[in-house]
This record gives sequence, C-alpha cells and structure tokens, in this order.
Amino acid sequence: MQIKRNILLNPGPSTTTDSVKLAQIVPDICPREKEFASMMKGLRADLLKIVHADPAKYTSVLFCGSGTVNIDVCLNSLLPAGKKALIVNNGAYSTRAAEICAYYGLDFIDLKFPVDEQPDLAAVEEVLQANPDIALVHTTHNETGTGLLNPIREIGALAHKYGAIFTVDTTSTLAMRPIDIERENVDFCMASAQKGLTAMTGLSFIIGNKAEIEKSKNYPKRSYYCNLYLQYEYFEKTGEMHFTPPVQTIYATMQALKEYFAEGEEEKWARHTRVMEAIHRGLEELGFCELIRRELQAGLVASAIYPDDPKWDFEKVHDYCYERGFTIYPGKVSTTNTFRLCALGAIDEEDIQAFFKVFREALNVCGVQIPVRYNQETIRGSI
Ligand SMILES: *Cc1c(COP(=O)(O)O)cnc(C)c1O
Repeated sequence: MQIKRNILLNPGPSTTTDSVKLAQIVPDICPREKEFASMMKGLRADLLKIVHADPAKYTSVLFCGSGTVNIDVCLNSLLPAGKKALIVNNGAYSTRAAEICAYYGLDFIDLKFPVDEQPDLAAVEEVLQANPDIALVHTTHNETGTGLLNPIREIGALAHKYGAIFTVDTTSTLAMRPIDIERENVDFCMASAQKGLTAMTGLSFIIGNKAEIEKSKNYPKRSYYCNLYLQYEYFEKTGEMHFTPPVQTIYATMQALKEYFAEGEEEKWARHTRVMEAIHRGLEELGFCELIRRELQAGLVASAIYPDDPKWDFEKVHDYCYERGFTIYPGKVSTTNTFRLCALGAIDEEDIQAFFKVFREALNVCGVQIPVRYNQETIRGSI
C-alpha cells in the first residue's frame, strides 16, 4: 500500500512511519478479551521505561482522549479537599491548566511569568512559603506555544520542599527529550500517543507515583470519566480501561513503542536535534528572527516572528506549502504574530531541507523580500 508522506511541522500530531499507520489494520477484536488486556499491560510497562520510572514506585494510566485529558485528570483528581493548586504559568498550556482549575472550581493560584522567560524561582518559593495549603504544583515542560523549556527539576525541588506534589505537562517533550522522572523531581508526567511517540491520536497517558494515586482514593471525585484513581483501580483489578479504549490507536502505539526502543533514546534525541538545527539554519538563511532566545528553547519548537513586509501572508504561504506536502503552524502568543516549525515526528534533516526549498518558493510567489525585513520595534518589543 502506498500512503502519501506528509511532513508535519505543526506541534503534533506528527509525521508517522508507514509501519505505525499499518499497525492499525488488524482483525476486529473486542477489547474486553484477555488478549487485548495483556497487550495493554506491556504497553503500560513500556511507557514507564521511556521516563526511566521504577515500576515498584510508578505506574502508567491510560485514557481515551487528546493530551488535554491528562491535564484535566491530574488536576481534578490529585488535589485533596481544602487544599490549593499552584500553576507556574509562562505560556498557553499552563494557562490551559489554570482554566481547568477554574472550571472545576478548585482553589488555585495562577502565578504568571512572561512567555519568553523562565519563571522566577524565588517568586515561586515566596508563594509556596506564604501558602502552606498548596498541595499540588503544576507546570509545563516545553511550552509548545513558544518552544520555551522550563526548569522542572528546580520547580519540583521547591514543590517537594514545601510538601506539595509536582505534576508536569510533558506532552511535547516525552519520548523526545530524555526525561528521568525521579531525577527531575516529577511525581506525575503525561503525554499523548501522537506527539513524541509518533503514533496516532486518541490515546493519552499519565505516568505517576503509585503511592500518591493510592492516597487520592479519598480525595473529592470531581469527574466521573476523568478520575485518575478510578481508572488506575480498574486497571489494577482487570488490566483494562474502565470504558472502551481506542483499540486501533493502541495497536499503532505498540508499534511506535517498538520503533522508539529500536531507535534508542539518545539516537532519537540526536535526530530531533539535527532536525531543529536544520530549522534554525533555514530560518536564519531567510532572515527570520525567532521569539525565544536559543538557550531557553527546548529544542523541539521554533517560533519565528512574522516579517514586516506587506506581502507576507501566513495563510498564502501555509497553503502553498500544504499543497506540496508540508504543514506549518501559527504561533500561540497573543502579543506577537509568530508561526511555528516543530521537530516532532518521524522526519530527518533532508525533510527540512526539502521544506525550505518549498518555503522559499512560497515567499517568492507572494513577493516577500528575502532576506525578510523587520522594523526595529518588532524585534525590540517582540513581547
Ligand atoms: C499538544 C499538547 C497538549 C495537548 O493538546 P491536545 O490538543 O489536547 O492534543 C497539552 N500540552 C502540551 C504542552 C502540548 O504540546
């Protein structure tokens, strides 16, 4: 079977291999069969290996849904009654976490920092000191809206110093940038199958501390479908998801895991780094400026600032590239117009070189001057 290969430079879902796509085509099976439950057991164990989690201490719990379901589940399930959550927020995904807290009516502090800087750790500590009722600290590892990497080890150490658990949205780093859950002071991390694992959409998972999940048994149950303890308990008792799992996505994920371990953690990260360096080079050659200082980037998302050229038209450039098999993506910053190029999928350097040929053509077709121009104010006042 010939499947057209598209290069997705959006922040997930990402380009998959044909073997992962084809792994979904299997004989129909009722997921309540023992055969299916035993497959999920292996999958859950493999997920722990990705973040070097000790199976005696950590477990993984699967959910049907996109990555946001994990943030929802962690926040609504892991906060004891009468306690507060602290969101260390410097971007769109931590803002989403704060919104989830608000929707559940949780007591929380939304501690905001500029989107182009790492959070001020002294300010985080001050808040923890002043609010001894904070029981959960949450942040985002790679703020996918900008590509900024947050210092999770340091934030986690502070959370633990003040007796809080630490939940981290690692959706856009897990299975790409190496993570050691314990060394990073993380109690709960999360991702979905269509990002770093380069499988399909529909399966999300949380990897976390078993003792903390056990403790949450008696916390308020704020959701019927999205409760971590209930899902965990069901897995422990039956090996199955409480409700119907995304069957075909699970087959694809198992294949993606095979390919992940065959490539290897270090090799895979080296490939993503190669891809990102090719993206930086390509942008630089065309004169594009990036929003986030290079040393603060997670190495998986580049946010390029729109040039000050009346001929620049993101939609037109996007459509030109899209028609030729390359998908680029708008930014997620309210104050500066940006677009993003991401290094997530089953792609390599050559794909980026091929992309920049097409991208340059698109700029030419639109009549955008190369190298692209900026007004001084755009660059200086970019945030
Ligand atoms: C992709 C992503 C999510 C999940 O987004 P969905 O639209 O629900 O798939 C959550 N957090 C981060 C950091 C992400 O990059």
